[in-house]
Amino acid sequence: MRRVYLDNNASTPLLPEVLDAMRPYFGEHFGNASSIHHHGQDTRAAVERARESVAELLGCRPAEVVFTSGGTEADNLAIFGLVGPGDHIITSTIEHHAVLNSCKHLQEKGIEVSFLPVDGRCLIDPDDLRRALRSNTKLVTIMMANNETGVLQPVEEIGKMCAEADVYFHTDAVQAASKVPIRVKEIGCDLLSISGHKIHAPQGVGALYVRKGATLEPLFHGGSHERSRRAGTENVAGIVGLGKAAELTMKSFEGQEDREMAALRDRLEAAILENVEAAGVNGEGAPRVPNTSSIYFDYIEGEAMVIALDLKGLAVSTGAACSSGAIEPSHVLTAMGLRPDRARASIRFSLGKQTTAEDVDFAIQLVPASLARLRELSPLYNKNAALQS
Ligand code: PLP
Repeated sequence: MRRVYLDNNASTPLLPEVLDAMRPYFGEHFGNASSIHHHGQDTRAAVERARESVAELLGCRPAEVVFTSGGTEADNLAIFGLVGPGDHIITSTIEHHAVLNSCKHLQEKGIEVSFLPVDGRCLIDPDDLRRALRSNTKLVTIMMANNETGVLQPVEEIGKMCAEADVYFHTDAVQAASKVPIRVKEIGCDLLSISGHKIHAPQGVGALYVRKGATLEPLFHGGSHERSRRAGTENVAGIVGLGKAAELTMKSFEGQEDREMAALRDRLEAAILENVEAAGVNGEGAPRVPNTSSIYFDYIEGEAMVIALDLKGLAVSTGAACSSGAIEPSHVLTAMGLRPDRARASIRFSLGKQTTAEDVDFAIQLVPASLARLRELSPLYNKNAALQS
């Protein structure tokens, strides 16, 4: 059966060049990067080359890159590494759980947290941020691109505001990296998280940009790895993969790749919406990364649609989380003001570097047909159709 993967915001496949770059570090190059002998020097050099590539991707100095086990750890290191008793944090209601639950955990421990709302397009209002700033605000953590809608926040404006208020600014750029160029100096952030498996590098590796001069309390205590910011023997193969993916991303920005991806995404969106009724794009009208489309299809359950499409060979996802057997509507979509049933009826399509025009055609063919079958079974849809006839 033909299989098309349009769930790249969940995880991306390794690019062949990334796998090739990593392979020797599972074999002959096995040394501990902290060892002073030949084997250690060999892997140390590979880690430092990867650090340079990631620094280039982010527009920072290599010494400002801390390798982590992924986006979740990078977010946790930024937040728990900075905030202490008596501090105030500002975040948003649409953050990934790596940020949201870290802030909620601190709130339970007595730290004050302000959660900024978003509008119907998934955008925060910088004036809300201005109003939320207090004398004890230590950290503002607002994501660069949302994982469900792909909507890009006005991070440069937020960065300026934070600099004026002398407050640390962290941005979770896990879903922005490789989709839009990132220059940390232009954003004006002090901390920025990325994750390997969202940029065609492996799962289990990521990085946190830490501006020179920003001091963080480490999460782990052990050796003095990563300039004492992250103890633990380096995941050399993973780091090499991240470095290679960073390099390939930089090259892709020199060409047309991001524009081509946006054109494919736009074609997918337009063709689906042309062929189905009672559907729309979540976050329409806001600036978005080029690969993501979140579409609501009224009168269906998103989970049922994901299963129906998977049975036909198309992998997509909902933003919904299954907790204790009940399907909770996505916190992002409900924060945007979607009714819970519309949030539950939303599907996220996310393209990757491997996505072809034929893959998009496959989805364009399949989605309206699967939707029609599900709606035939929907009492709500049939009742509505009867009322309209
Ligand atoms: N932040 C965002 C916006 C994400 O989309 C994800 C993963 O889905 C993460 C953080 C967590 O990254 P990781 O899976 O590398 O821990």
